[in-house]
Amino acid sequence: MRGLDTKTALVTGGGGGFGTAIARRLATEGATVAVNDLDEQRTADTVEAIREAGGEAFPAVADVTDLAAVQSMVAEVEDRAGLDILVNNAGWDRISWFLDQEPEAWDRILDVNLRGQINCARAAGELFSAQEHGTIVAISSDAGRVGSSGEAVYAGTKGGVIAFTKTLARELARDGVTCNVVCPGPADTPMTREMRAESDLAASIFDAMEDQTPLGRMTDPDDVAGAVAFLASDDAAFVTGQVLSVSGGLTMVG
Ligand code: NAD
Repeated sequence: MRGLDTKTALVTGGGGGFGTAIARRLATEGATVAVNDLDEQRTADTVEAIREAGGEAFPAVADVTDLAAVQSMVAEVEDRAGLDILVNNAGWDRISWFLDQEPEAWDRILDVNLRGQINCARAAGELFSAQEHGTIVAISSDAGRVGSSGEAVYAGTKGGVIAFTKTLARELARDGVTCNVVCPGPADTPMTREMRAESDLAASIFDAMEDQTPLGRMTDPDDVAGAVAFLASDDAAFVTGQVLSVSGGLTMVG
């Protein structure tokens, strides 16, 4: 994919299921990858895996819900390697019927999924605007396009990510910055494994979604990584404000 071998990408939640696959794929395409995560060990594991495969990566541990920490992280990444690509991927979810879900769960879902993406987009967006180039790829979810039973607040944050990122695409286009959204379908990752372990409802909903997927299986993190790499590359230089589902046809939004 064109242009990635001269770029540096910051991947948030880079120690998780999708984040690891995205970071590894961008590094395989020649990008230098700053691996962000809240969890130091997961961050280190992804960095090590990339280096062992011959790629360039370094850790960028920070809590994306903390704007000051995100601003410091972005400044440090820029000092070290420059910054051209933000992959806004860190996220958190728990499945519950909305009327049963505690407000404490809403707070964490809202903070990580929406406020976290806003914080990272602000810090990277200021830099991208000043340098007159850069791209943001936001990880939303099919839940944010069509809703998802058991995930009302999560779906709300993911719909918010889509509207937020489209608006950034409009505002930052004048500075040569592009912004797009990838919506994965349900995948087997540490997040969904924890959700299945905690709740029979989660397991039954994920199983039902797999059954309803035309291509007949769950999303693989590598499926998502390929779409992110395309949108981050110069092959997608004239693509902005778009939403791409990578979910085996689970949703087909016009
Ligand atoms: P995951 O739990 O495997 O990975 C998420 C990573 O984010 C973890 O390593 C975690 O430590 C990190 N993280 C959490 N809070 C953070 C914070 N405040 N600051 C920095 N890092 C933080 O989850 P995943 O399944 O790989 O999900 C990645 C993204 O994909 C999320 O945005 C999620 O909503 C989205 N998504 C996942 C699925 C799925 O089925 N797994 C489907 C659609 C969308």
